[in-house]
Amino acid sequence: MTYFRPDINAMSGYVPGEQPPPGTQVIKLNTNENPYPPSPEALKVLRELEGELLRRYPDPMAGAFREAASQVLGVPADWILVGNGSDDILTMIIRACCGPGRGVVYPMPTYVLYRTLTQIQGAEFVEVPYQEDYTLPVEQLIEAQGAVTFVASPNSPSGTVASVEQLKELATQISGVLAIDEAYVDFAETDALEVAKKYDNVIILRTLSKGYSLAGLRLGFGVANPALLEGLIKVKDSYNVDAVACAVGAAAIADQHHKNINAQKIKASRTQMADSLKQLGFHVLPSQANFLLAQYPGGNAEFLYKSLKERGILVRYFNQSRLTDKLRITVGTPEQNEALIKLLSEILTGEISKSVSPTRS
Ligand code: PMP
Repeated sequence: MTYFRPDINAMSGYVPGEQPPPGTQVIKLNTNENPYPPSPEALKVLRELEGELLRRYPDPMAGAFREAASQVLGVPADWILVGNGSDDILTMIIRACCGPGRGVVYPMPTYVLYRTLTQIQGAEFVEVPYQEDYTLPVEQLIEAQGAVTFVASPNSPSGTVASVEQLKELATQISGVLAIDEAYVDFAETDALEVAKKYDNVIILRTLSKGYSLAGLRLGFGVANPALLEGLIKVKDSYNVDAVACAVGAAAIADQHHKNINAQKIKASRTQMADSLKQLGFHVLPSQANFLLAQYPGGNAEFLYKSLKERGILVRYFNQSRLTDKLRITVGTPEQNEALIKLLSEILTGEISKSVSPTRS
């Protein structure tokens, strides 16, 4: 007896990174949150919100945020579509464009939610392996001709970026939509906004969860020409962005100074953390995101993940192809990063490995 569609029964749902209850003593380097507080301007707006704002339904298009983002990005407001996190924009794209015979294409490994949302939609997916060094497999992505092609840049979990040239080539050679997921762009040296400005079939996805320290607010947005957005607007939930997120997010995105200062700190810590991990013997990919993908040669990453967790540090371990020997580690504050390196070093030198066997799986 089941209440669900056979394909929903057959799929496994998306498993978000662990979120320990507030107050738990843990160093949380597993879901790429920003370790620094949100903009004081945004927090001031939050504190001063009036109840009247909540009595009424919110603006369906989150106009105040749209206007603020338009100023910052230098695109007209009607080029911006706001969502309940950028996950919500991903959902809209797949809902509007995909279904039986209209599949999704993306390089692997990448953000697992692309697959989950495609399965929910009953559409097919083609997963094209990244090259060994995480160069984008442009030719194979083109060959697959998806109704939607997703490219995360910087990519998760690798932290690597696709070049604007590659993205332009993809945009011109596929007949479907190219969605460039820039969730981590605030920590990168380049962005692909110009690709969305130039090509009708391209949408850029951004979020306030990472660079702006607002993962709990749930606010993200897409940037594309109004004709492309029109189709997405048809399938979005009517009031997908609540009034609090709209007001607080507008103040946060206007405060570029705050975001940039924190991004600079994180980038400096990223370099330091990569150096320390290399000293411990890890291989670390060059990352333009707020995390590092670290491989311990011949090592058992699950063992390291569990050993760190037992001692109060959460990192991300993915039990999937190409990742079982690696950890994705969010860049935290300098103190958090030091604690991580110290603990890793102790585990690797066997000082505190008595309780968990390091046998390889
Ligand atoms: N894209 C990528 C590549 C991500 O890692 C994440 C965060 N899990 C998201 C999109 C979604 O971010 P949010 O919904 O918080 O905006």
